[in-house]
Amino acid sequence: MSTLVVAEFGAAGLRPATLSAVVAALQLGGGVDLLVAGHDTEAAARQGAALAGVGRVLQADGASLAHQLAENVAAQVLACAQGYSHIVLAATAQGRNVAPRVAALLDAAQISDVTRVLDAHTFERPIYAGNAVATVSCTDAVLVLTVRATHFGAAPGGGAAACVAVPVVADSGLSSHQGSEIATSDRPELTAARIIVSGGRGLGSREQFEQVLTPLADRLGAALGASRAAVDAGYAPNDWQVGQTGKIVAPELYVACGISGAIQHLAGMKDSKLIVAINKDPEAPIFSVADIGLEADLFAAVPEMVQALQAP
Ligand code: FAD
Repeated sequence: MSTLVVAEFGAAGLRPATLSAVVAALQLGGGVDLLVAGHDTEAAARQGAALAGVGRVLQADGASLAHQLAENVAAQVLACAQGYSHIVLAATAQGRNVAPRVAALLDAAQISDVTRVLDAHTFERPIYAGNAVATVSCTDAVLVLTVRATHFGAAPGGGAAACVAVPVVADSGLSSHQGSEIATSDRPELTAARIIVSGGRGLGSREQFEQVLTPLADRLGAALGASRAAVDAGYAPNDWQVGQTGKIVAPELYVACGISGAIQHLAGMKDSKLIVAINKDPEAPIFSVADIGLEADLFAAVPEMVQALQAP
């Protein structure tokens, strides 16, 4: 039994979710190889080779993989899949794009959003927006898994795996890269942030969202997040949405301001280590998951917090 982890990487190297995918793969019990498929893969491959527990890094480096288009990456995984019992990807936008293609091409079962590995064929995964946890067992010869990074730690360094160049698949011609608009921010990336300050409809407008929450996020060195209602109302950009149809986060500190705590929002943040909720409604469901609840008007409470954090 052995596992192939499909790496995700960018200019800054391997994405943190890949380090968690390696941890999940190691819990399956067999050997673990890492596939680094893309263009200019040298740095990511070297980083992967240094991860504890990785046996080999399969390095597929070619122009057809330049933008890691899902069709070409899936074909590359298929080309490398022989002999592996498990193919593991992170449950990110990229992983969710590639995994079903791989599973279909292999005619294999896919188990999505794995939060716990019980044994090599038995897994836990959330269902009904995280309100229930299903234990799923599958005895197929090959399994394709996507794993939730927030439930597994990050693989440490200390490894010294060999990097093996593998033949690169041809461009499938099914899709092409037209351009990228990459949002740049001085803030930490939402899913990797240690602290998140998140705002909801209670902020009332885009201007107030910015005026009230930005100083707190700056003070705490936090990423900014939002509820779907806040995103839909145009208070915050789409990629800040936390929840069932947004990003799944589990920071050390999550500060929810003017967020009611609808089940779909909780699905994205309830695994945060410390949850602070500020809401003027004592009945708001967010208080049921909060470690610290402040029943207050956020327009008074948040500036007070900022001031207190500024005090010497
Ligand atoms: P509201 O529910 O309107 O709550 C606003 C809160 O602000 C209230 O509790 C109020 O008491 C408080 N408030 C108002 N003024 C103040 C003040 N001055 N001081 C303090 N508190 C104040 N939602 C998500 O967030 N993420 C998702 O991914 C998501 N996916 C969804 C998927 C589906 C299929 C569906 C049906 C819904 C989804 N939703 C999602 C929407 C979700 O159901 C809620 O509508 C949404 O989370 C509500 O956002 P909110 O808490 O900001 O707004």
